[in-house]
Amino acid sequence: MARKSAFRFSALAVLLLSACCWADSEAEDDSGELSVSELLERANSNLIRSANDPILTGGDIAIDSEAEKNADPCTSRGCMWMKFSDGKVYIPYYITNHFSSREKAIITRGLDSFSSFSCIRFRPSRSSDRDWLSIESQNGCYSFVGRRGGKQVVSLARSGCLYHGTVQHELLHALGFNHEQTRSDRDNHIRVMLQNVQSGMEHNFRKIATLNQGTAYDYNSVMQYHKYAFSKNNQPTMVPIPNSNVSFGSAKQMSRNDIARLNTLYKCYLGLDEP
Ligand SMILES: [Zn+2]
Repeated sequence: MARKSAFRFSALAVLLLSACCWADSEAEDDSGELSVSELLERANSNLIRSANDPILTGGDIAIDSEAEKNADPCTSRGCMWMKFSDGKVYIPYYITNHFSSREKAIITRGLDSFSSFSCIRFRPSRSSDRDWLSIESQNGCYSFVGRRGGKQVVSLARSGCLYHGTVQHELLHALGFNHEQTRSDRDNHIRVMLQNVQSGMEHNFRKIATLNQGTAYDYNSVMQYHKYAFSKNNQPTMVPIPNSNVSFGSAKQMSRNDIARLNTLYKCYLGLDEP
């Protein structure tokens, strides 16, 4: 349960009020030119959050307390989902009934996509399940990182979060992945321009001691935010190294690397073995 304090709540209010940018009246199917990171930023800006909403960090990562901001990589906290004897990782989910059938189909397509390229199998939850994802339309798009134990909410707000790549992005958080720009080796690949970041939003660019599993930094990861994310002055908040003109953060779905590292983390290629 979220532990709250006046300080945290006001800090959060500042954080959210300082985000701005898009008109709320955008239609649902206008995602044409927008990357996942732009969609997330748009969906999570201008939200009026209540004290019951979880604290968000990194734009769309839910945490229960401020202390978790600097947590070790989730996978070393034992938050991976369990592999079964058939080599598959079954993750129960429940989709709350406030989605339309069209919206539900977008979510299901995102869930099912994982079975086409990994050993992850999202399946409808049963009453006997101990840990499961509750997919709800809450305030914005967000997820906790990794398995939390018991019910954990993945919020896909009906307004703004129901796109294939956005669903994949939030599910990757639930599977234990962080944003690409927080990788431990990110300073070799992007320069973070804190002077252009909105005040109070700097935490979105903190580095995490991620386990990179030998995978390359991926500008095209669905977990990479875009060049102007959280900018206060329309100047880039991240510049690629060494070639500052390389485009990044424009993924609309999981990249080849996203798939490879998911398979590596969950040892999908090994079948019956751990994790
Ligand atoms: Zn995210």
